[in-house]
Amino acid sequence: MAWEQRWHPLREEWVIIASHRNNRPWSGKTTDKIASKPDYDADCYLCPGNTRVGGHENPQYDGVFSFDNDHPCVGMDSPEPEPASGIYKNQPARGKARVICYSAKHNLTLAELAVNEIDDLLAEWQKQYTELSAIPDVKHILTFENKGHEVGVSNPHPHCQIYANNFVFKTIETEVNASVNYRAKNDCNLFSDIIKSEKEDGRRVLFENDNAIAFVP
Ligand SMILES: [Zn+2]
Repeated sequence: MAWEQRWHPLREEWVIIASHRNNRPWSGKTTDKIASKPDYDADCYLCPGNTRVGGHENPQYDGVFSFDNDHPCVGMDSPEPEPASGIYKNQPARGKARVICYSAKHNLTLAELAVNEIDDLLAEWQKQYTELSAIPDVKHILTFENKGHEVGVSNPHPHCQIYANNFVFKTIETEVNASVNYRAKNDCNLFSDIIKSEKEDGRRVLFENDNAIAFVP
């Protein structure tokens, strides 16, 4: 048994790592193989030409396709809520929620796209970021993909979501503050030092080339 505290430089706090827990029995589901699924599914609300909940019909798109989420968690015209009582506070959750399909093909994942298709997706992320950040109320933009049944995503069609919010998430605020503090104290960039340490150690590096590095910190 090896319980270990590790300093999380981006959160500026101690976290607990219990590596032996990786050996605990796993009786949950394993990830579905989707390679055997067809490249079009008539019941999928993201496939080209299909009708989404709310009645919008997807165009016969080819490549990347973006649209406003039909069930957004935020809205630009969100009304003032009833004032909260006691210790609680509230305000309207303003912003935009969008969905981006990576491909017209239902059965692909990001990793299976051709390099030029990944290029197109990156260009779309940039375009969305520029467009959404120009909205006066928007303070923060999060592009993310939840993937797989295991995290509650019922639709395997390759897609991600964007939340453009009227506030900055606490995690981001914490990381930005940690970066500022680190520079003030050490006169160098926190992320450069994280990468330097990961390269020196090497055990957690998954991939590296001249332009990018991927590791599991
Ligand atoms: Zn689909």
